[in-house]
Amino acid sequence: VGCGICVNKCPFSAIMIIGLPEALDKPTHRYGQNGFALYGLPTPQVGKVTGILGPNGIGKSTSVQILSGALVPNFGEEKGDWDTVLEHYAGTGMYDYFKNVIDGKIKVSQKPQYVDMIPKAFNGKTRDLLEGTDERGVMDELVEKLDLGHIINRNIGELSGGELQRVAIAACAARDADFYFFDEISPYLDIYQRINSSKLIQELAKDKAVLVVEHDLAILDMLSDVVQVAYGMPSGYGVITHPKGVRIAINQYLKGYLPEENVRVRPDAITFEVHPPRVATDIATLLDYNAFSKKYGDGFSLKSDGGSLKEGEVIGIVGPNGIGKSTFVKILAGEVEPDEGELESEVSISYKPQYIKVDSFMQVRQFLRSITRRFDTSYYEAEIIKPLQLEPLFDKMLNDLSGGELQRVAIAACLSKDADLYILDEPSAHLDVEQRSLATKAIKRFAENNGKTAMVVDHDIYMIDMLSERLIVFEGEPAVFGIAHPPSSMQVGMNKFLSDLGITFRRDEDTTRPRVNKKDSRLDREQKAKGEYYYYK
Ligand code: ADP
Ligand code: ADP
Ligand code: MG
Repeated sequence: VGCGICVNKCPFSAIMIIGLPEALDKPTHRYGQNGFALYGLPTPQVGKVTGILGPNGIGKSTSVQILSGALVPNFGEEKGDWDTVLEHYAGTGMYDYFKNVIDGKIKVSQKPQYVDMIPKAFNGKTRDLLEGTDERGVMDELVEKLDLGHIINRNIGELSGGELQRVAIAACAARDADFYFFDEISPYLDIYQRINSSKLIQELAKDKAVLVVEHDLAILDMLSDVVQVAYGMPSGYGVITHPKGVRIAINQYLKGYLPEENVRVRPDAITFEVHPPRVATDIATLLDYNAFSKKYGDGFSLKSDGGSLKEGEVIGIVGPNGIGKSTFVKILAGEVEPDEGELESEVSISYKPQYIKVDSFMQVRQFLRSITRRFDTSYYEAEIIKPLQLEPLFDKMLNDLSGGELQRVAIAACLSKDADLYILDEPSAHLDVEQRSLATKAIKRFAENNGKTAMVVDHDIYMIDMLSERLIVFEGEPAVFGIAHPPSSMQVGMNKFLSDLGITFRRDEDTTRPRVNKKDSRLDREQKAKGEYYYYK
């Protein structure tokens, strides 16, 4: 591992680096002789949120085991011992930290990455789980801030992903620890909930050390005080850089090059184009749809305005959880019948649902080959297989794939079908930051190069911003009713969406990526006064 030769051939080439920096010849920890090697460590700091930015499989859990004292780092030798660790960190800020670890003075509270596992480990009600972890006596406050009141007496086994995620965040924050580790906060949460959770974690960090791994860059950006970039080769080795300023770290990461380390983490940059909207008259219409409505029994009801989709455009779809986005796309895709309004369809549609079901026992290679005739072409290799990192999955069975692996295969399958309209419901789910950027690029290039129309439901603002030419915004009351507005320009749509959320964005001068303004900052107040929630420079 760490060679420079396989940059183009390695299945992980998208996240391959050109050699290891020389200063890193000795790992912090290595599992066995040819096992995974970790270089560097996250450095928790009291009073700060330290964000970790990088792909999965790069040594986060290993790091946290070391920082909690459960694993003694061996510096590449056969066995580690604490005396060597203290010697190694003498004269650095980590010396005192490890001294405390050895003296049993550091208590760690962790939120696991996969919240879906919680019901397997805990049998009981939300209240029981939270009472069991509430060492700081803050349960009522957390229940209120994370909006858990209505599920407090429900069984953990009955909670949705988004509810479990918020319960897990509350449980981690309720413990009385010195060092808190949140392994992702955004999965299953909508933007509103992501921002709420971020605020809670920032408050927690006022007098504690907090480490957060997060793949939603807008959230990582607003949440962190410093960022450590993680790079390397998943399962091979991982390097964790020293802490950097948040803006600088994210910009360096997007550009694919870390100047201080002199390392390229990606062959090319991820760019945000502040694209001028195309002139409406020169583009043919793909589909005009009529207004429609749908009500589930005496439960949730959806009303959609009619609208028009153009050829070759990508339309983003945004709104809180439980507002009817999935119902809306299912109706367009013909999976659900509306009660009122008819959707004639000459237009063929390829649809990736939010929750992906596996109903065939096939290897990934065989599955994709059964969908497309282009499987063995260089086009397919360059545009689908490589960006979605599918090659390492080819021999695996569909039913053995992890959430992130299945998501990548499902995106590939959706784009492999012959259709006029491609609908993807939450493609960023379960993907790490690198996979999201690559998937975004793959979807966008697919639409551009083939002149196809795509609709993408997602909560990741970076993904929506990079992909979309126009936007459908939902409003209403989650779980009660939802209204789908017709597609509007990005500017009009984002202004509507963000004014509902009460947050404003500016554009980073260097990379033009959107950044959340601090609440009540000068820019935040100015932009709100002008109604420019989503700032186009
Ligand atoms: P992350 O949390 O970033 O996803 P981990 O720290 O869990 O990464 O794992 C990084 C790599 O280390 C993985 O490829 C895994 O196979 C390997 N690894 C983790 N724990 C062990 C162990 N106890 N023995 C050997 N290898 C391990
Ligand atoms: P979103 O994708 O915006 O999160 P959904 O369209 O999935 O929203 O769901 C909107 C509301 O409709 C939710 O309250 C959900 O529980 C409810 N709902 C979704 N599908 C069904 C169904 N088949 N039967 C009854 N209620 C449903
Ligand atoms: Mg949905």
